[in-house]
Amino acid sequence: MNVPENLKAAAIQATTQAYSPYSKIKVGAALIDHDGNIFTGANIENASYGLTICAERVALANALMKWQDRSRPLFSKMVITNSTGTPMPPCGACRQMLLEMNENAEIFFETAGGWTSALAKDLLPGAFYMREDLAEENG
Ligand SMILES: [Zn+2]
Repeated sequence: MNVPENLKAAAIQATTQAYSPYSKIKVGAALIDHDGNIFTGANIENASYGLTICAERVALANALMKWQDRSRPLFSKMVITNSTGTPMPPCGACRQMLLEMNENAEIFFETAGGWTSALAKDLLPGAFYMREDLAEENG
């Protein structure tokens, strides 16, 4: 498995920015856009647990704020890592957001057998899509 080393290093660095006083788990994510810019994110927890934001979605939000050429997908690759030494694949909410920002993006994460990667669209079979006809009727 060829994990992009620059993204892996950025994801590891991003774990140091985690705000995780409850789980103590520090997750980092790093993505690269089509111009070679790298954006990172770390998990941000909250005492109201449901408000917690995963590292993957923080990285996407970071990149979204600089996304100029919206004719191209937001990003092409993302690497996700964490401080526990055990695999933590992206959760369902993150898979939905990764899919929307580029269904063909390659997502790298750790499994029990080591690193693996998958296309965003393959991480969420049967994903939710907004029906265009409904969007047009209502917008
Ligand atoms: Zn998540």
